[in-house]
Amino acid sequence: MNPIGIIGGGQLARMLSLAAHPLGLRCRVLDPSAQPPAAAVAEHVRGALDERAAIEQFTDGLSVATCELEHVPEHGLAYLESLVEMRPRAAAVRVARDRWQEKSFLRGCGVETAEFRLVGDELDLERAIEELGLPLVLKTRTNGYDGRGQKVVCDRAQALSALAAMRGASLIAESWVEFDRELSVAVVRSVQGDIEMYPAVENRHTGGVLRWTVAPAPDIGAALSDQLDQIARTVVLGLDYAGVLVIELFQVGQRLLVNELAPRVHNSGHWTIEGAETSQFENHLRAILGLPLGSTSATGGWVMFNLLGGEPDLARVLELRGAHLHLYGKAARPGRKIGHVNCRTPDPWNARSRLQGFLGLS
Ligand code: AMP
Repeated sequence: MNPIGIIGGGQLARMLSLAAHPLGLRCRVLDPSAQPPAAAVAEHVRGALDERAAIEQFTDGLSVATCELEHVPEHGLAYLESLVEMRPRAAAVRVARDRWQEKSFLRGCGVETAEFRLVGDELDLERAIEELGLPLVLKTRTNGYDGRGQKVVCDRAQALSALAAMRGASLIAESWVEFDRELSVAVVRSVQGDIEMYPAVENRHTGGVLRWTVAPAPDIGAALSDQLDQIARTVVLGLDYAGVLVIELFQVGQRLLVNELAPRVHNSGHWTIEGAETSQFENHLRAILGLPLGSTSATGGWVMFNLLGGEPDLARVLELRGAHLHLYGKAARPGRKIGHVNCRTPDPWNARSRLQGFLGLS
């Protein structure tokens, strides 16, 4: 069978490629680095994501291409789309990579989000403060991830200096949400239109970066579950989507506000490697190839911890019963996601406190 193309060669591409192997499938990644994490397990075409010659080499003989990241430059995305079948469609990637388009799309489908305004200059910002109140979150429309490209501002002076510091970038201002917790849900839709949903999970962030995930999220009653189902179906149908899509949400009482869409597999779904009957990676491949989807049921209670910065003591991690270590083959650097631990446990809070010290969890 022809290889499956993955745009980007990071850890998500690596885990997709690993999931492809037992199915007898091969992946090819496009990535500008010399040795991206996926290169150990997939063919690698080295080149920028908007470099025509590299894109031509990458797409040569591919069955289908998918993204492991949404921040693909428009030139590259348009050229890729003209040469190879993209799943999900490039149009879905365009919506999800731009916070303005993303939130406008969600509102257009009747899905609740924080209030937001487009900010081009000081006048827009003054108006946003007046209409949305303070604090506000200023976010770049594109290229923001892991808390980058955003600033919480508590007064007018802070807002104006943040605008000056982010000058040049196109921004949105978002009202501050006093949420009870953060949830996400992964939904998968095949090219035939079959839809499956993983159980919703609870995510804990520090400084905008995901630190750990509890799966399934505790205390999801029928009302929240129905809303999650409704939101997920509305979004995948609205985008005519194929593949795994992850929806990040704020829970406020029994209300759900969507914060972000990831048109790809996602960090909050890493627990599915051992924790679900079919991992998000395998189901993404099944979905984009038009194969039957696998069960998304959880095999128990799981917690996923991100490893940030340096490598942990292997023996100490594996001492924890039910722990599975996944390292991405990345060089250690402060704050960098270099791996994660999935741990099967009936008591995620206890597993967390056992790992807290040496994993530096906060
Ligand atoms: P984002 O880059 O939009 O995913 O934001 C990263 C993190 O910042 C989120 O996971 C939240 O913890 C926090 N955050 C983002 N937007 C808001 C908001 N409007 N109100 C409160 N917290 C937010």
